[in-house]
Amino acid sequence: MVEYKFLKFVFVVRKSYSSQLLMTALLFIISTKLIYAKHPYDYLIEFCRIGERVPGTNGHKQARDFIINNLNNPEIDSFFTRGTWFYNIYKRYSGKNRRIGIAAHWDSDIGCPGANDGGSGVALLLGLADTLELNPPEMAVDIIFFDGEDVGKAELLGSKHFAAKCVNNYAFILVLDMVGDKDLQIFQEGNSAKFFPELVDSIWDIGMEIAPSVFIPVIKYYIIDDHISLIKYGIRAVNIIDFDYPYWDSKDDTIDKCSKESLDTMYKFILKIVYPKYIY
Ligand SMILES: [Zn+2]
Repeated sequence: MVEYKFLKFVFVVRKSYSSQLLMTALLFIISTKLIYAKHPYDYLIEFCRIGERVPGTNGHKQARDFIINNLNNPEIDSFFTRGTWFYNIYKRYSGKNRRIGIAAHWDSDIGCPGANDGGSGVALLLGLADTLELNPPEMAVDIIFFDGEDVGKAELLGSKHFAAKCVNNYAFILVLDMVGDKDLQIFQEGNSAKFFPELVDSIWDIGMEIAPSVFIPVIKYYIIDDHISLIKYGIRAVNIIDFDYPYWDSKDDTIDKCSKESLDTMYKFILKIVYPKYIY
């Protein structure tokens, strides 16, 4: 009988131990899965239907409203210059750690539909906003849509306006631009790397974890993009861009040059930055 009792005891212990293991495994799976809403590529399809988004045009107003309507109570920061209204759009999420920003411009140049140039960044930010609504992050995150980047020869109007009145002490801001093309390769951008070499290396380390064939830790181009306005005002900003895009600034920058796979890679990359503890 003693032996039986012992066996019974072992059985109970084993049973509770295995159910504990099961619970732990389940909790691990649940805690490492983010809840997704809509894929960024679906946002890109809808956003591209609007066509060109040149400031002052009807397409510009439609694109502004599309972004606003797909965010939960965003801040709209409008300003008037050169005879036209411009609109920066922000969505801020609170958290314990130092604030980071993920930014993209949403306007497009004259004669350019801007599917990849501007559009890909917008699609990623809207997807990220959905995920942040459903999975509150530990770190404080700002999602920033700049207007007026492509006015004239990259006048960077929205980011200049933002930087001039910025009071937040950001850990860094990532500026995404042209990150949705089918043949995606992201080299380090020269101006970002010149000012913040360690930050750029650490961002590329994360990128290489997600997609080693996409993120190349070598400088290829020096780009004038919204990060330049931010750096001028002392904000640590890094440009994430694939400048090897033959359709840049042309009528051929259309959605057929972009891919769901590329946006998926970039989506995982920004999620890894915002939610470093999760598995992708
Ligand atoms: Zn651009």
